Parts: sequence; structure tokens; C-alpha cells
Amino acid sequence: MKKDVRDYIRTIADFPHEGILFRDVTTLFADPRGFRMAIDQLLHPYAGVRFDKVVGLEARGFILGGAVAHQLSAGFVPIRKKGKLPGTVISQEYKLEYGEAIVEIHDDAIKPGERVLVVDDLLATGGTAEAGIKLIERLGGQIIGCAFIIDLPDLGGRRRLEALGMEVHALCA
Ligand code: 5GP
Repeated sequence: MKKDVRDYIRTIADFPHEGILFRDVTTLFADPRGFRMAIDQLLHPYAGVRFDKVVGLEARGFILGGAVAHQLSAGFVPIRKKGKLPGTVISQEYKLEYGEAIVEIHDDAIKPGERVLVVDDLLATGGTAEAGIKLIERLGGQIIGCAFIIDLPDLGGRRRLEALGMEVHALCA
């Protein structure tokens, strides 16, 4: 009997590049018990806390963030890769291992002072989450927490987000 969220996650070698051990959460999402457990545990630290918006980072953060927003009776806001959102956006560049990437948010998606929870599947270097945090803060959002299924602590993401004053919640390493 699988008991823990980590038991539903499989690791696939050499994806998307040779030498990378990719944590595949589609097996967690596909399992009714696993998916419910993941959403319940993501929500656990925030019992009784009020949120206006849940922000999901493309793409697996959308799946988690939608379910979390529903449970919190909050709105859902996507942060997407450049060129995907139809309305007026603000953009944020960030560094990848090789090169750079840009993420965007609709400029009217978060109102100043709104209380925000950031959700994604995995925290590695923290570059993606930091770019998202900058976008939310540029719109005046107040980030109450950042929640992930997996934290890879050796890659420094948690330290990086905590240095920005963020509270980081992760279900497994
Ligand atoms: P970071 O910006 O923290 O270095 O990387 C985190 C981002 O890359 C997240 O949006 C996450 O979805 C994706 N990512 C990086 N490595 C993995 C992995 O092994 N598995 C999954 N599911 N996502 C990953």
C-alpha cells in the first residue's frame, strides 16, 4: 500500500537531457488517492488562512494551483512562458542553466494588497519561482507562502526564496 506522496512520484533518467533525473509527477496526479493526498498536504499549513489568489507556475503548477484555489475559495492566476497570455502582461526575465527565459502575468490579475499563495510542483534552483515572485510583487501582491510538492534542497531553491523573505512549504525532498 502506498502511504506517502513520494511513493507516487517516479524518477525518469536522462529526461529532458542526458544526466538529468527527472521527477515525474504525472503518476501522482493520475492516482486518485495520491492526488487528493498531495492537495490536502499542500493546504495543510494554511488552515484558517485567507487567500485572495493562488498563482500557479506553468505548467504543472496550473494543475495543483487550480485544485488548491478551489479548496481555499480563492481565484486562480497563471504565470506563463512568454507569448502565451492573451491580455496585457508584465514580463520577468530569469536565468536558466543555459541561457535565459521570460515569464509573464496579466497586469490586472492581482490587485495591490491581495494575499497570494504561489504553487508549483518542484523547487530546484528557485529561478522560476523567484521570477514569479517578482511579477506578483510588482503588481503589489502580498505573498503569504510558496508551496511545492518536491524540494531538491541541494540546488538551493529554498535558501534563495527564504532570502527573499518567503515561507516555503514542500511535501518531500
Ligand atoms: P528551478 O527554476 O527551481 O530551477 O526549476 C523548477 C521548475 O522547473 C519548476 O517549474 C518545475 O516544474 C521544473 N522542473 C525542473 N526539474 C524538474 C523535475 O525533475 N521534475 C519536474 N516535474 N519538474 C521539474
